[in-house]
Amino acid sequence: MNNNGFTSAAELAENIHNGKISSVAAVTECLNTIRESAHLNNFITVCESEAMIAAERIDADIKSGKCGTLTGVPVAVKDNICTKGIKTTCASKLFSDYVPDSDASVISRLKKAGAIIIGKANMDEFAFGSSNEYSAYGVVHNARDNTKVAGGSSGGSANAVAARQVPLAIGTDTGGSVRQPAAFCGVVGLKPTYGAIDRSGVVGLCPSMEQVGTFSNDCDDALLLFSVLSGRENACRLDGNVCGKTIGVAKEFLQAEMSESVKNAFTSATEKLKENGASIVEVSVPSFFAGLAAYHVLSSAEAVDSFRKIIKSYPHTELLGEEVKRRMLTGAIVLSGDNYENLYIKAAKVRTVIKAEYDNALMRCDALLCPVTATAALPIGGITDPHQSHMCDSFLAPVSLAGLPAVSVPFGSEHGLPLGVQIIGRRNAEYDILNIGKALTAS
Ligand code: GLN
Repeated sequence: MNNNGFTSAAELAENIHNGKISSVAAVTECLNTIRESAHLNNFITVCESEAMIAAERIDADIKSGKCGTLTGVPVAVKDNICTKGIKTTCASKLFSDYVPDSDASVISRLKKAGAIIIGKANMDEFAFGSSNEYSAYGVVHNARDNTKVAGGSSGGSANAVAARQVPLAIGTDTGGSVRQPAAFCGVVGLKPTYGAIDRSGVVGLCPSMEQVGTFSNDCDDALLLFSVLSGRENACRLDGNVCGKTIGVAKEFLQAEMSESVKNAFTSATEKLKENGASIVEVSVPSFFAGLAAYHVLSSAEAVDSFRKIIKSYPHTELLGEEVKRRMLTGAIVLSGDNYENLYIKAAKVRTVIKAEYDNALMRCDALLCPVTATAALPIGGITDPHQSHMCDSFLAPVSLAGLPAVSVPFGSEHGLPLGVQIIGRRNAEYDILNIGKALTAS
């Protein structure tokens, strides 16, 4: 609980609604917390004056009886999501002066629900990375241990929630960029079903996989934020009841490389679900191990295409960081000559097979349980080889290829650092996976 006296966004919204706390007070408190923990480097831009003006307007609206789902609740926004009149840098020097003249669709939805944009969160440049070390605006320091990374690419968003600077944040997830930093920072990170949330106004490079996702302290808040972003208002509250549910564990997940603590946390999570009346079945997704490679082939090829359009208006490519240049080079190689058939077409086939395998597995169970990352948050500067950082995403990328919804919830720890488990659902089953998440995180 921070000084605003809220334990959740839902509670804060209710308190603002009931007049127990003003939106101006809530925003002031968040801005103070952001200032006090500025060393974490979670924000590229803090929208102090804009947020205060919005809060004053919200307080006046409440007095005249107008109230939305997220009335007065401060939200952090990843800096690749366009905000009208506010710089949107994508953590790149190339976009250092880019001020969009309209809001992304998700921002319009947030504003309509009464939420207040408190700032633009740090990220890996153009959302390429798994550690937030590839930002032109500096590394994000994990709130639990400042010597560790916060994960990426949505590191600032996840860490701002973990540091209690904001109750809610949004990010984007193409191959794990919401779920992985959520696990590293010990918060809930939801990647919805592909296509569930309108992505217009998101500076995305991989349109066939990228999704806007949510960060919150619990699963109820994730459902609340998801319902606002997707426009699918869900009247049902989560009850955390998993009795009679069937949870699948693919044997391939257990064969993958992971630390002892991750393995133990994963085993404890299955035990906890069993204790709550769920049954565990073994399933199989044989192409799981090909997922990460296929993801990198497809995502870098798509990125080259997206970048061609960007470069027409922003030609100074010398301003780009190393990782973005590497991805462009990979993409160009993938798309050239014989490689197109040998790499791109093969990866596309793998994607089709993975999709079918996950769908088949989900016909035998209500959801799949899977680790999020192979270890807890790594030390800053600890990843020397970029491919090592890509390895972080092996549990995440196949889900993105399949377009399925998945949530990372905090579960277990490694040397005092949080770990997460991932619950993967059928398409549009956000409610169900969050409900399982609620059962897992209940004390
Ligand atoms: N870490 C992955 C990558 O670097 C995922 C990025 C993302 O989801 N935006 O490609």
